[in-house]
Amino acid sequence: MLTLDKETFKKAYENKYKNLHGEEIEEGNNQQKYEALGSLIRDYVIRIWMNTNKKYNISGEKQVYYFSMEFLLGRLLGDVLMNLGIMQVCKEALLDFNIDLRELEELEQDQGLGNGGLGRLAACFLDSMASLNIAGHGCGIRYKYGFFEQKIINGKQVEVSDNWLREGNVWERRKPDKSEIVKFGGEVKVQELNGNLTFTHVNFEPVLAVPYDTPIVGYENDVANTLRLWSAETVSNEFDYSSFSRGEFLKAIEYKNSVEAISQVLYPEDSFYEGKILRLKQQYFFVSAGMQSIIRHFRKHGGNILLLDEKIAVHINDTHPTLAIPELMRILLDEEGISWDEAWRITTNTISYTNHTILAEALEKWPIEMFKQLLPRIYMIVEEINKRYCEELWSKYIDQWDKISRMAILADGQIRMANLAVVGSHSVNGVAKLHTDILKKEEMRDLYYLYPNKFNNKTNGITHRRWLIKSNTGLSNLLMETIGESFIKHPTDLIYFEKHAHEKGVQEELNRVKKINKEKLADRIYKKNGIVIDPASIFDVQVKRIHAYKRQTLNCLRIMDLYNHLRENPNLEIEPRTFIFAGKAAPGYYLAKNIIELINCIADTVNNDPSVNDKIKVVFMNNYKVSLAEEIIPATDVSEQISTTTKEASGTSNMKFMMNGAVTIATLDGANIEIRDEVGNDNIVIFGMTAREVLNYLQNGGYCSIDICNENKRVNRVVNDLINGTYHKDRDRFKSIYENLITYNDEFFVLKDFESYVKAQNKIDNMYKNIHKWQEICGINIAHSGVFSSDRTIQQYATGIWGSELIYKNL
Ligand SMILES: *Cc1c(COP(=O)(O)O)cnc(C)c1O
Repeated sequence: MLTLDKETFKKAYENKYKNLHGEEIEEGNNQQKYEALGSLIRDYVIRIWMNTNKKYNISGEKQVYYFSMEFLLGRLLGDVLMNLGIMQVCKEALLDFNIDLRELEELEQDQGLGNGGLGRLAACFLDSMASLNIAGHGCGIRYKYGFFEQKIINGKQVEVSDNWLREGNVWERRKPDKSEIVKFGGEVKVQELNGNLTFTHVNFEPVLAVPYDTPIVGYENDVANTLRLWSAETVSNEFDYSSFSRGEFLKAIEYKNSVEAISQVLYPEDSFYEGKILRLKQQYFFVSAGMQSIIRHFRKHGGNILLLDEKIAVHINDTHPTLAIPELMRILLDEEGISWDEAWRITTNTISYTNHTILAEALEKWPIEMFKQLLPRIYMIVEEINKRYCEELWSKYIDQWDKISRMAILADGQIRMANLAVVGSHSVNGVAKLHTDILKKEEMRDLYYLYPNKFNNKTNGITHRRWLIKSNTGLSNLLMETIGESFIKHPTDLIYFEKHAHEKGVQEELNRVKKINKEKLADRIYKKNGIVIDPASIFDVQVKRIHAYKRQTLNCLRIMDLYNHLRENPNLEIEPRTFIFAGKAAPGYYLAKNIIELINCIADTVNNDPSVNDKIKVVFMNNYKVSLAEEIIPATDVSEQISTTTKEASGTSNMKFMMNGAVTIATLDGANIEIRDEVGNDNIVIFGMTAREVLNYLQNGGYCSIDICNENKRVNRVVNDLINGTYHKDRDRFKSIYENLITYNDEFFVLKDFESYVKAQNKIDNMYKNIHKWQEICGINIAHSGVFSSDRTIQQYATGIWGSELIYKNL
């Protein structure tokens, strides 16, 4: 633990500031003050970081590497200060210089190298691994441009590039001496040498992978693990300069650009497969660099390669890093000279895989022709894996050709990454109970019967350190006063809050804390959107990626219905509500963009209609990201988790809201089911179709959205409101939404669930009328949220999948 008193810290800060900027603190601006602070804190962290690395090298404990194409870290300063245990000292010391720590924190650019839930999960996992003393590190890509910045212009989304490195990044360290070469293109020369085949990759294009390391600081435990992100550069003296000498400057520059393009930008699609060659390059680039550097480090410290799987675990976050499997095979076969069988044993024992979605449009399948050209040696290995695997299938499933072709890795001219991931790893996990059940019984049924022991569930979690202790200090102070501090290290101790949730005094305190958070958010909304909202109204929030299956449309139709109702009955007795939305649409996802337009048009119409103005307001906050989530979630009363049942693998914002004392309105989808099981039916509002019903429709058909439109007047009316000029004078404006519901038969059962959703919302309205009872429910939700800490999730991964040594010296 870092012990620091205020005076020492002040001296250190003043020194750092002067050394960095060559002037007095008072002369500088906040950006400079932030840079000095970040740089000072990084110095403190570096001691811990070096010690941790030394400790790992000496102890030889198993190292876990979490491979992910996305890490959605958000801001780091506040969390690092908290985890070092110096938040208070730092705050007070800066105050003596007339500096507000909060203001400096807000200057930090979000590290937005991810799209949404999957990338944020990776970030929460890093935090939990470090805090639980697990030697677990991240491996990914250092995108020069992260997830785009969203602006709203005339109600529409406009994408602006996210130049997050513009002001530099105090947390990262470039490590050029740890660079690796990644080979693309070329051919493979096969030769026989003493009766053995050898494979030599020739005429390839080398790309230099340069690592940038960021320390991941554990909570008050003197641990700093590493997030290693790779950046693509040209290998000097190779291609660029040879063109140069021929005077082909432009070619050289073009070449440089084409290499650097590999780590230039994050693909902005969430739950959607983008079959571009650049994406495949990105995947192999970081996986190859990461795997090579792991083996190099392992070798350097005297590791016996035949025992690799006892010392190293590599986890792949979705199928994006699946090439880790053939890449590890390549290294073992071609560089270490190990036999196929032995290499395969080591590889499958080393690698484990998490499936994140069953959406068909998200399944990765690479065209063989493209793949073979870009990665000739890797392709040969995938072919061999497939050949041996299919031989096993033929002997097991005699004459069941349909089944075998469904299960194959190579088929229809494509490489199916999910099948490769299952075959090449020892563990396959889903991210919530329902999701894992669907994987076993539906999506991957055949593979499950072949490898029943590989499949397991690890329900997602979120780090309570960022999402409760840091971002909701009011609530965490109340919790500490009520039940003590043990929940900080043992989040399931939050359960002790349950009995207090029944106390009137505590309910009033909960209400007071929530009100302060809501006032802060109302302020923010006024500054950002110019909309005045009432902190006493219900804050009803849906923030997440905009996606058809997440059904922002259902929420919109329900607001439109309520608006109709209010106009006809201006004296309708409802609790005033503020509907808050935020989320980005993939730039090429027309329907999702249309939904954003609809939300903004509803907001314009409703907010400017004096006949309902005091009852409902609608707000779309632009540019949803981690730091915005941290402002919105603590101020939320109602958490909207309304995906079509079976479609949301887990969801994680559902857990963040619960932990911050919101009441969830939800379908029985993903982890919502487990939230319901934890809090009981009285403390959550459930609506909508069951998984059985949905699966039944999907398998047997029989759903007809027009029937519902014809039978239900209110549905009929709101669907027509989309195209009758109520929300925009251009009646074609929301045509894409309308057609999705009517012409294309409402793939996500929005109309089917409408009535049940409206009823559930009425129930919420009634519940809120008794604010003591409401806060009691919120308190019960908080009390039961501890199991959704990613600490629980990570302990399950560590013991159930990675076999890492858990050292609970701090627990
Ligand atoms: C938690 C989080 C998500 C995931 O939200 P879901 O509602 O679970 O899809 C997405 N984006 C950000 C910025 C988050 O913090």
